Amino acid sequence: MAERIVGHLPNYPEGSCFSSREELSRAGVHRPRVAGISGRGHEGADSVVLAGRYENTEDDGDVILYTGHGGRDPATNQQIGHQTLTRGNLALAINKLHGLPVRVIRGATHLSPYSPETGYRYDGLYRVDDYWRDRGRSGFFIWRYRLVKIVTNLLFPTMTVPILHETEHTQLVKALYHFRCQMCHARLETPAGPYAEGVHIRPLTPPHNGPDTQENILCLCPNHRVQFTTGSITIGDDLTLIGEEGRLMVDFRHKISPAHLHYHRTHYFSLES
Ligand SMILES: [Zn+2]
Repeated sequence: MAERIVGHLPNYPEGSCFSSREELSRAGVHRPRVAGISGRGHEGADSVVLAGRYENTEDDGDVILYTGHGGRDPATNQQIGHQTLTRGNLALAINKLHGLPVRVIRGATHLSPYSPETGYRYDGLYRVDDYWRDRGRSGFFIWRYRLVKIVTNLLFPTMTVPILHETEHTQLVKALYHFRCQMCHARLETPAGPYAEGVHIRPLTPPHNGPDTQENILCLCPNHRVQFTTGSITIGDDLTLIGEEGRLMVDFRHKISPAHLHYHRTHYFSLES
């Protein structure tokens, strides 16, 4: 099975049109030929198709309330059971948890002013802003997702603004610590799995231009991410915390750059002269 590609595909920019689900699938823009969500459980989802088959999907262009899958009679498309947070539905929840974007494709059969006249059109990347359980018109539980269009950086049109700057390397560092905070050792459990945030010590954004390397990344709980990125806590060269009691937990395989710690102390921590 081909590797799942998250984000834009190089050969198919936003606005690319496709005549059929087969063509979409061959291009890799949305691989399943029937399912609306391309994704598996804990891997996350790479694309969704809006084609009018699902009840309760609302489309305002830049914001879409998308309905998960499952619980439908394939013959009539009527909702005949509850949707569960499994398969593609779980995959979309993972996208929110880890800040992964999802490609949105609209089909002509999707009832919306934003639908193409014919066939299918790739309409760019969205982030999964929120997800929750709701009761559909049929009375059965459905899973709903708020998808929000990711605004493209005008200076770098092929780059999108990542949410929380999650990258392949932040995922690796979080996995190394089993999603445990390096400052307080807390691990948040959620119905979609454990949660932690990968934080760049020296931020990636200009003018900091920190590198996206493991020696520049910490695995933190949300509270400590906020305290660290706002400069209420920093870290000494000997890995003691400054601004709070304690010491950074560091796995022996994780080398942390003293230069990046120094950058953080001098640029974010206001108490150090
Ligand atoms: Zn913490």
